[in-house]
Amino acid sequence: MGGARATVPGLRLLALDFDGVISDSAPEAFVVAMRTWCALHPASRLCQPAEPLLDEARVPSSADVAGCSLYAPFLEMMPLGNRAEDYAVELHALEAGAVIPGQTAYDAFKADIDAGSLRAFHKRFYRVRAALSERDAAAWQRLMGAYPGVPELLRRRSGECVLAIATSKDRRSVRKLLAAYGIDDLFPETSVLDKEAGVSKRAHLERLGSAHGVVPAQMTFVDDKVNHLDDVAALGVVCALAGWGYNGPREAALARQRGHAVLTLAKVERQLFGG
Ligand SMILES: [Mg+2]
Repeated sequence: MGGARATVPGLRLLALDFDGVISDSAPEAFVVAMRTWCALHPASRLCQPAEPLLDEARVPSSADVAGCSLYAPFLEMMPLGNRAEDYAVELHALEAGAVIPGQTAYDAFKADIDAGSLRAFHKRFYRVRAALSERDAAAWQRLMGAYPGVPELLRRRSGECVLAIATSKDRRSVRKLLAAYGIDDLFPETSVLDKEAGVSKRAHLERLGSAHGVVPAQMTFVDDKVNHLDDVAALGVVCALAGWGYNGPREAALARQRGHAVLTLAKVERQLFGG
């Protein structure tokens, strides 16, 4: 891959997080989280507004998700968590009507929740997800659409640098979704690092660099979480926040403060490749 040519001088490898950068998986995560929550807490006041999403005989549509009053507050809190158990934390906060203005308040709220109940949620979440995906694979995939224009942009620029994915999702789901978006061929096996490669994005980027013989300064990493960018920036990799992902003005300001670029869907191609 040594002959890759970049429009922006120096860019030889573009590593992308998957959820919140290429794939808008929030509707699916919300459905799985609500089903898990209501299975564990059937008397919760959250189960009534989520009712249209809970029928296990069908896979809800994105419109069903958008119509649920809990979805907007759920999305708003998403930047504060990292793992499936964090959806339980969010739902505990919604149930309690707790005000969570930022990370410190979130971490304090989470510390007060019984760790065993979070583990139980986490475990059940993956069982519920498997059942949902098996019910109707095509409908399940439709809950995780690509962000508009992103697959086309990657296709157009695929000859200019190595494209790679650094994700905590599992490889199998990533591959299926890339195929559904029509861009599976752009990512060879050595360019997709999933949760098997560890949870640290820094470790992912180090491995990508050595696998492709690219030094950190020639790599750009795009993620929708500021803490992941901070982690990777320490290597000397150029880091950028996907402003269309699971973040808001609070995170965009923080990213700028830390010296990361903030990308927008309308300008991302020029921001990454110039011209
Ligand atoms: Mg993400």
